[in-house]
Amino acid sequence: MIWNTVTLAVSTAGRRSIAATPAASRKFATASPSPVSSAGRDHKVVIVGGGSAGLVISHQLLRSGKFVQDDIAVVDPATLHHYQPGWTLVGGGLKTKEELQRPLNTLLDSKLKFYNEAVNTFSPDNNQVTLGNGEKLGYQHLIVAPGITIDYGSIDGLPEALADPNSLVSSIYGYETCDKVFRTVEKLKEGTAIFTQPTGLIKCAGAPQKVMWLALDYWKKAGLYSANGKSPINIGFATGLPGMFGVPKYSAKLEELRKERGVEGYFQHDLVSVSGNTATFALPGGKEKVKKEFDLLHVVPKMGPHAFVKTSALANETGLVDVDAATLRHNKYANVWSAGDASSLPTAKTAAAITSQAPILVRNLLQSTEGKSLDATYDGYTSCPLLTEYGKVLLAEFKYGGEPKETFSWLGIDQATPYRAFYHLKKDFFPWVYYNSMVKGTWGGPKGWIQ
Ligand SMILES: Cc1cc2nc3c(=O)[nH]c(=O)nc-3n(C[C@H](O)[C@H](O)[C@H](O)COP(=O)(O)OP(=O)(O)OC[C@H]3O[C@@H](n4cnc5c(N)ncnc54)[C@H](O)[C@@H]3O)c2cc1C
Repeated sequence: MIWNTVTLAVSTAGRRSIAATPAASRKFATASPSPVSSAGRDHKVVIVGGGSAGLVISHQLLRSGKFVQDDIAVVDPATLHHYQPGWTLVGGGLKTKEELQRPLNTLLDSKLKFYNEAVNTFSPDNNQVTLGNGEKLGYQHLIVAPGITIDYGSIDGLPEALADPNSLVSSIYGYETCDKVFRTVEKLKEGTAIFTQPTGLIKCAGAPQKVMWLALDYWKKAGLYSANGKSPINIGFATGLPGMFGVPKYSAKLEELRKERGVEGYFQHDLVSVSGNTATFALPGGKEKVKKEFDLLHVVPKMGPHAFVKTSALANETGLVDVDAATLRHNKYANVWSAGDASSLPTAKTAAAITSQAPILVRNLLQSTEGKSLDATYDGYTSCPLLTEYGKVLLAEFKYGGEPKETFSWLGIDQATPYRAFYHLKKDFFPWVYYNSMVKGTWGGPKGWIQ
């Protein structure tokens, strides 16, 4: 029995220095799994979610050469996979949402067993998941990667405003609404445009302002916007956060741009309702509210863990999958792993982060199947290509603690400066490499192509 209640040598000292600290022991409250054959509904590895993380990890596991037909199962109810980072480009009129999607089954290697179903419940003490249709799947290892969910209902009146084709209320954060964004930008000829960002976790924390910078540039080129406050259009950025971005180095540059470009900053303003042309924001503490009139509103709703994860034994107090920040293994169940948005990894939630997380998870999972110690550690690497106008991107790259970890520093480039070359990475190269290499498990992000 591999996973009887075991004592494994992993560090419990500071998460970020896990590799450097002396190993301490930790008890894993794992079940005694029944032997798994990969026959029928039992698999060596079950992966919940065939999104960015599930696709990369399933293919990197296959490429290890240690698995045969149907050893690895991917469970996902979706029929289409979307390249979500491209939705910002759709909002800027640079791509169509249709060109960013693929049928999910065409992205899965035929050696993977695909269950086109949702997972409803986890039974980690029995090494099983139950699907929406009642079927149970057994596993030796479970990888939990169902992403997070967008809570449109968290903002009163938002679902109705988004659904109204005549309203100038939109969001790049959903497939249904991302193509409404550019239409609203084109329609606005005068008035106040407000772009929001909520408090709490969201996917790609830079995207709420990327879409604003593109809209500003569009209106500037159309002669409708200038920084002097006297143009037909004026712009506000209303964010639940105290600054423009979570990483001081990039936040300082973005604040400089905001002031230079005459954008009003409404900090610690968290959108709570939309009614007609009035947006209401909660101030810190939640008691005091501020109302602002708008002519165009770009909304980023609150996001959070799926209910089936949040209410499971796998979740931490915030509802995310409770994994070790360095090894990506579950803190309680030694045969459970997580990466991507659903995980508790304390870094910005991006596809770029997954390029670094996947090889760590795969290496450690394979090590553990051979009874070896986990020797790969994730440093929190993540990246946010911040479009600051058409033709320029500030390429934020950082790790745990908001410490910059820039790929191009060896060229003497300061990545807090927006560059044209980075724009082509974001607009052309990343979407290309995503479908041609990343989802196949051969793209390592800053490490380039991997075996
Ligand atoms: C507007 C926008 C802009 C972005 N910009 C960038 C960017 O510039 N750069 C960047 O790197 N990242 C960006 N991101 C973030 C990036 O898209 C996500 O971090 C990444 O997709 C997360 O991958 P994931 O696999 O964790 O989740 P997802 O890719 O969301 O996949 C989750 C999968 O789980 C499935 N699932 C859901 N429920 C269940 C269930 N019950 N059972 C089984 N499967 C289930 C879903 O169908 C889905 O296929 C952006 C995202 C958005 C929305």
